[in-house]
Amino acid sequence: MLLNDLRDYNASLLQTVLFKDYCPNGVQVEGRAEVRRIASAVTASQQALDNAIEWGADAVLVHHGYFWRNEDATITGIKKRRIAQLLRNDVSLLAYHLPLDAHAELGNNAQLGKLLGMTAQGRFGEQNIAWLGELEQAQPLAQFVQQTEHDLKRTPQVIGESGKMIHKVAWCSGGAQGYFEAAIALGVDAYITGEISEQNFHLANESGVAFIAAGHHATERLGIKALGEHLASRFGLEHKFFDQANPV
Ligand SMILES: [Zn+2]
Repeated sequence: MLLNDLRDYNASLLQTVLFKDYCPNGVQVEGRAEVRRIASAVTASQQALDNAIEWGADAVLVHHGYFWRNEDATITGIKKRRIAQLLRNDVSLLAYHLPLDAHAELGNNAQLGKLLGMTAQGRFGEQNIAWLGELEQAQPLAQFVQQTEHDLKRTPQVIGESGKMIHKVAWCSGGAQGYFEAAIALGVDAYITGEISEQNFHLANESGVAFIAAGHHATERLGIKALGEHLASRFGLEHKFFDQANPV
């Protein structure tokens, strides 16, 4: 298919214009006009580009691309090497950040809910990016943490009493520890996100709401892979997800 058609389809599927984001969503680096093979990865790291190009990808699909709001705008150093490699190989980079977190089926939060058995009942936070719901079955924190570790293949960092019963939950993939207070105000038993900050420890202790830092990378592997698979089946493209172990 044509890169421009892929771009337009994604823009309408993920409703990218509705989001106020910290980076451009869509084609960030333009490569060849025809796309047959798409590689996906969480982050457009050098390793992700190497894997994609070695596999013969025409386009690379990521959640974390380039050109973030507060970064140095110059194309030098690490950024120069990455972009030069894409341009030299005529490979496109397509990035979808907040619109991918938010998508009702393919998004990181939708996929995370499905994986961990959390049923969505509502949304909250800036641009309604965080999700609210409940576990299919109430269970002690220790049991839910064990399941999270198994499903995401990463040991979460947890603040909370292991015997506390968890039923009502809130979650947001990635670095969404800033929504913990909003989650507490909603009366949940636990909040699940990717990363934890120092103050979350005290907020968890003082509120009695458990905090589960399940991994920024681990909670954001799901959406981009689901999007790649969706595009492959919809347009008959070849797709491969390249995972790069990341402990954060
Ligand atoms: Zn992220």
